[in-house]
Amino acid sequence: MPPNVPLDSLSLDDVGRALELRSFRLPFAKALEARFEADTSAARARMLVRQNHIGLLVYNLFMVGDFLLVPDIMTISVFLHLAVMTPLMMLVNAVVSREPPPWLRESILAFGIVAGVESILALTLLSHSPLRSSEHLSGVLVILFATMVQRIRFPYVVVACLVSLLLYTVALIPFASQDLPRIAVADAVFGGVVLFSLTGCYTLESELRTSYLLALRDRLRNAELEAISRRDALTGTGNRRALDMLAADLAARALRRRAGDEAPRATAVLLFDIDFFKSFNDANGHLAGDSCLKRVAALVGADVRLGAARVFRFGGEEFLVVLEDTGLTEAIRVGERIRRDVETTAIPRCAMLGAYGGVITLSAGAAAGTLGETVSLADLIADADTALYAAKSEGRNRVRPAPVVEGASAAA
Ligand code: GH3
Ligand code: MG
Ligand code: MG
Repeated sequence: MPPNVPLDSLSLDDVGRALELRSFRLPFAKALEARFEADTSAARARMLVRQNHIGLLVYNLFMVGDFLLVPDIMTISVFLHLAVMTPLMMLVNAVVSREPPPWLRESILAFGIVAGVESILALTLLSHSPLRSSEHLSGVLVILFATMVQRIRFPYVVVACLVSLLLYTVALIPFASQDLPRIAVADAVFGGVVLFSLTGCYTLESELRTSYLLALRDRLRNAELEAISRRDALTGTGNRRALDMLAADLAARALRRRAGDEAPRATAVLLFDIDFFKSFNDANGHLAGDSCLKRVAALVGADVRLGAARVFRFGGEEFLVVLEDTGLTEAIRVGERIRRDVETTAIPRCAMLGAYGGVITLSAGAAAGTLGETVSLADLIADADTALYAAKSEGRNRVRPAPVVEGASAAA
């Protein structure tokens, strides 16, 4: 199986650089090559198997040609076609369809090509038929099959073609004494086919790789735009769109769990609001307010990075944390940790709020429940909002739980 290379392990820069640096060398740098193989090897395997079936059919149809040109060794021809080359191609297909490492896939294809040319040359050499010197001509079809149909990767196809050309030249030597001009021209034609089709094969692979890079660049750009469209520009946390998508995703997952008879799992939310933030803005200016929002977002994010937690900017100075597989007790613990971290970071506030330690603090409401037909993420958020209101009215800088909603007690 090809290696699993996550898309975000490659950057747009990697791909842009690879596009700029396209040169005579075909393979990409290591990580990109691994991604290329991961993206293309399954389709290549399927196509090769189909092509090899067609190639084998045509190859075996040439038994008719053998019957016309070298009838004296028909038994050997049938044996070579049906008992040697057919099982060999079946084996090639069995290996290729298992998506082996690229070097093995291309090597075994190249080996099959050399064996194909070799089998045709063997028939030419073994026959005593007066027409036997025409038998070798079908070798060009094998070369075309390797370079234009299978499009074996370039270094491998070069080796396969050059070995075939060498064998072809050596096999024609016995005929040279009888008919040198014709044999020399036949060898030159075979060499020309090898040269032209290798050139074509190189061009095709180069174009394939360039188109792949262009398509990958588009994918990465789209992924980046998609990520930007889900991020809050100021704080880098998720925005409302991302929250809506998560809500839909969680609802779908809850449905699937229910359909699959899986045990229900609790989801918790924490809604944070910066205390007296308006005063911070008034005292320090809006830009300082922006920096403060960024710092608080980073603190909340750092605190919940572990586990399946996501942080969203819910409103101006409100942040929402969604904790999957988490009950109310654990959510309050997380909320309390975040509240304490923000307080001890001691982001200075306006001096006139000295009663609150002169530093930025958070109030939070926590709610948890089992998502399903009767409870949605929006319900949990509404409950957390009520709890946040309680935290504010009880004096701020604290975390308050919402009244337990359906399913929460089991998970808490
Ligand atoms: P409370 O403790 O009751 O939450 O008081 P508060 O002052 O934080 O609440 P209020 O809702 O009155 O004020 C929120 C302020 O947040 C108002 C607004 O100026 C500020 N704010 C909202 N979004 C942004 C922003 O993107 N940047 C900055 N600098 N301030 C913002
Ligand atoms: Mg607010
Ligand atoms: Mg506030």
